[in-house]
Order: sequence, then C-alpha cells, then structure tokens
Amino acid sequence: MTVLIAGAGIGGLTLGLSLHQLGIGFRIFEAVREIRPLGGRDQCAAPCDPGAV
Ligand SMILES: Cc1cc2nc3c(=O)[nH]c(=O)nc-3n(C[C@H](O)[C@H](O)[C@H](O)COP(=O)(O)OP(=O)(O)OC[C@H]3O[C@@H](n4cnc5c(N)ncnc54)[C@H](O)[C@@H]3O)c2cc1C
Repeated sequence: MTVLIAGAGIGGLTLGLSLHQLGIGFRIFEAVREIRPLGGRDQCAAPCDPGAV
C-alpha cells in the first residue's frame, strides 16, 4: 500500500513522517516548485513551547 499525500505543508510532512515510522509507503505531491517562508517566524505560545514553561 502506498499513501498519496497532497501538499507538503506541516500537515502533509507530519503525516509522511508518521507513515514512515509505521513502515507504510507514501508519496507527497506538492503543487509549488519551491517551498518558501510565508509571513514571519513561526510562533508557538505556552503551553506548547517548552522554553516558555
Ligand atoms: C502569514 C501566516 C502566518 C502564520 N503564522 C503562524 C504561526 O506563527 N504559528 C502557527 O502555529 N501557525 C501560523 N500560521 C498558520 C499555519 O501556517 C497553518 O495553520 C499551517 O501551515 C497549516 O498547515 P497545512 O499543512 O494544513 O497547510 P499548508 O501549510 O497550507 O500546506 C498545504 C500545502 O499543500 C499544497 N497544495 C495545495 N493544494 C495542492 C494540490 N492540489 N496538490 C498538491 N499540493 C497542494 C500547498 O502548496 C501547500 O504547500 C500562519 C499562516 C499564515 C498564512
């Protein structure tokens, strides 16, 4: 079985990593040629930011 993933955003990449850990084959398809930053730095507020607790 090969899982086809549309989009290499954090959702698609996370799913790919999870499938990899489970030993399940997958392919990620991304619409854009080049992944570029959008907006500013990602921010992670407490309680999910380990540095903030
Ligand atoms: C300016 C901005 C700043 C943000 N800042 C923060 C922040 O500081 N902290 C935070 O937690 N969140 C932030 N977010 C929200 C965060 O970016 C999103 O919640 C997150 O990226 C969603 O991830 P996703 O994988 O669902 O979608 P996306 O990251 O949107 O990824 C989807 C991918 O799928 C691709 N795609 C779409 N359609 C197709 C198709 N038909 N075939 C193939 N590929 C396709 C797209 O090109 C894209 O690369 C921000 C969002 C924006 C716009």
